[in-house]
Amino acid sequence: MIIFGPPGSGKGTQAKRLQDRYGAMQLSTGDMLREAVKAGSELGRKAEKIMSAGNLVPDALIVSMIAERLDEPDCREGIILDGFPRTVKQAQALDKMLAEKDLTLDCVIELKVDEAVLFARIKGRATESEAVRSDDNPETLRKRLDVYREQTAPILPYYRDTNRLRSVDGMKDIDAVTDQLVAILDRI
Ligand code: AMP
Repeated sequence: MIIFGPPGSGKGTQAKRLQDRYGAMQLSTGDMLREAVKAGSELGRKAEKIMSAGNLVPDALIVSMIAERLDEPDCREGIILDGFPRTVKQAQALDKMLAEKDLTLDCVIELKVDEAVLFARIKGRATESEAVRSDDNPETLRKRLDVYREQTAPILPYYRDTNRLRSVDGMKDIDAVTDQLVAILDRI
């Protein structure tokens, strides 16, 4: 499945809970890139500046990173994609990749959250967390939201048209959001 939503919508938190409940592996492209940056790999060196500016890492790099990861044994029970796809090109590449690997996309669930709530959450995350992310500040968040609106939200019609999109209210408390996700997933 894909868990979809703007920055700060709670995708990562919910994906972890779904991983614990269903045994499917959470694949967060943001986490994978942050690890590559920490490790100082070639991918990490290419991604670092782009990420701190709130821009998107090129599609080709992301698509090959995910394609390799999907072949690992810990992905056999299923996967929860968190932060991928983020462009229509990535969504098309994902469909092609899944067909080649004989995998099916069960559903895409969108977490709907108003922008004012996102700003408040990211501000909280930047002050509470000890290991502050370099892109968790109000200026970069504004940029990340622009990028979401312009490049990522256009994926929604792509999935809506093929009848794979479900939406939940991401502004409820964490447990209530999980309950909505579980209600959808238990019916699949
Ligand atoms: P996230 O942790 O999902 O908010 O991602 C942090 C940053 O990593 C994003 O702002 C992008 O710079 C980069 N990133 C993560 N996933 C992708 C993706 N699917 N495509 C392009 N860039 C990505």
